[in-house]
Amino acid sequence: METGSVFPQPGMRQPLEPPGQQPPGSGAGKAAEDDGGGGKGSVDGDATSANPYAGLVSSLRAAWLSGKTRPIEYRVAQLEALGRFLDEKKRDILEATASDMGKPPFEAELSEILLCKNELHETLNNLSDWVKDEHVDRNLVTRLDSAFIHKDPYGVVLIITPWNYPIHILLVALIGAIAAGNCVIVKPSEVAKNTERLVAEVLPSYLDNDCFAVVTASVQETTRLLENKFDYIFYTGSTSVGKIVMAAAAKHLTPVTLELGGKNPCYVSDTCDVQNVARRVAWGRFFNAGQTCIAPDYVLCSVEMQEKLLPALHKAITDFYGPNPQESPDFGRIVGDKHFQRVQTLLRSGRVVIGGQTDEEERYIAPTVLVDLQPSDPIMQEEIFGPILPIVIVANVDEAIDFINSHERPLVVYAFSSDDKVVNQVLERTSSGGFCGNDTLMHVTLTSLPFGGIGNSGLGMYHGRFTFDTFTHHRSCLRRSMGREALNTLRYPPYSQQKLGIVRAASEVKRKGACTLL
Ligand code: NAD
Repeated sequence: METGSVFPQPGMRQPLEPPGQQPPGSGAGKAAEDDGGGGKGSVDGDATSANPYAGLVSSLRAAWLSGKTRPIEYRVAQLEALGRFLDEKKRDILEATASDMGKPPFEAELSEILLCKNELHETLNNLSDWVKDEHVDRNLVTRLDSAFIHKDPYGVVLIITPWNYPIHILLVALIGAIAAGNCVIVKPSEVAKNTERLVAEVLPSYLDNDCFAVVTASVQETTRLLENKFDYIFYTGSTSVGKIVMAAAAKHLTPVTLELGGKNPCYVSDTCDVQNVARRVAWGRFFNAGQTCIAPDYVLCSVEMQEKLLPALHKAITDFYGPNPQESPDFGRIVGDKHFQRVQTLLRSGRVVIGGQTDEEERYIAPTVLVDLQPSDPIMQEEIFGPILPIVIVANVDEAIDFINSHERPLVVYAFSSDDKVVNQVLERTSSGGFCGNDTLMHVTLTSLPFGGIGNSGLGMYHGRFTFDTFTHHRSCLRRSMGREALNTLRYPPYSQQKLGIVRAASEVKRKGACTLL
């Protein structure tokens, strides 16, 4: 797919526009068609007028300022169209993700379709409540006025996504951005080439092209795209690129959400059902061939537990994928040659006890378990993002917690134990974006839980209502009456101690009774 393009392109628009949409020919889509996606009408003035995406951003801003995305009926129509995209193009999505990374159909349907549909339905079911003004407490001075939080869209937002869940991550963010009333540019990853092509060529035919565009862009082109002033940037990808995106956003003081990666520890205590643990850990680690940001990256356990866990992991892997996982239709492939080389190199750390086979032509790496690791081994220095599970020995839960806390804060911490106290200890004494006790990945299936990182694993959160809130500016509003001016004279000069006393009494937030716990 040619990068640096804006979609839809001339002749690609299809007659699937939702009700109430303006006919094609004006706004973002038209500007993009007219000038190849850039050039004219930059809102940033001369300094950026040569930017190839300035025209697109400018026309999306004009569409946003026109108020077109504000009515809830408009947003619902666009969201319903996203639902039709998922239904009508399900087969294409499964084929594209299978071509890109051998994603098994079951895993693709679960992660790319079902979880997206859940987010969509959660949003459609609740949007009329979420958009309402929230009335808040008032003090004595404003008792007769109206004080409320108004849910404003940010304006023109940019969504940049990675390749590992190329539909899910893009659509879940887009659902919230549309629900909140923004105009949006989405930039899918160029690494998942087939899915990128599907998104670029098909998604725009479901959406209002005045307000929503897909840009396919290499790193160099994304750098130019990021020179433009956006009102919000939602980025998902590696921590190193997250820093580049944040630096670009800082130039315009643009707020960001950064959904990043990292190494997710998985503590397994000595008291647990070993076979259940092995199944749950193996599923989370080898789903999508290990290319999952919330996969358990490594196991922390005692020597005794490792002895029990190894045969249990071997059994789980054989039960899941048969004696030769390369022949299993339920085990994926590494997304690209460069990625394959990187993950293959990590196999040199420690000692292989399960798996370890590779096939470069197929970009296959067997589900693998490594032992005898040193903290300084390369595999313990970077996010694995492949089907390899190292086991690191710790003496007990305290040592596991110290190990976790001596590293960057991860996207998720996992803890397995039949003893709730042990699970709670890990929860209370560590810090991470999320936490899941006695299972892996499952916390992400709940639209009621916020999803996001902390520290090196990210900034901000989304899913369900949190996605709507992320793309919404919570505008603080006070509407007063023009009358009752006599009350206001108390705050006007000339000041006096007496006036100050009355103003203080009328507006002070009083401390309630002392906390009984202290
Ligand atoms: P990546 O950072 O290489 O790329 C992500 C996006 O950024 C792509 O669209 C890419 O084109 C763009 N990009 C790359 N370099 C850029 C640059 N210099 N300037 C501007 N844009 C640039 O990440 P990836 O390899 O696609 O994805 C894997 C990473 O993403 C892993 O670290 C994984 O943990 C993380 N991830 C995080 C989450 C989450 O929700 N926290 C979800 C999925 C993946």
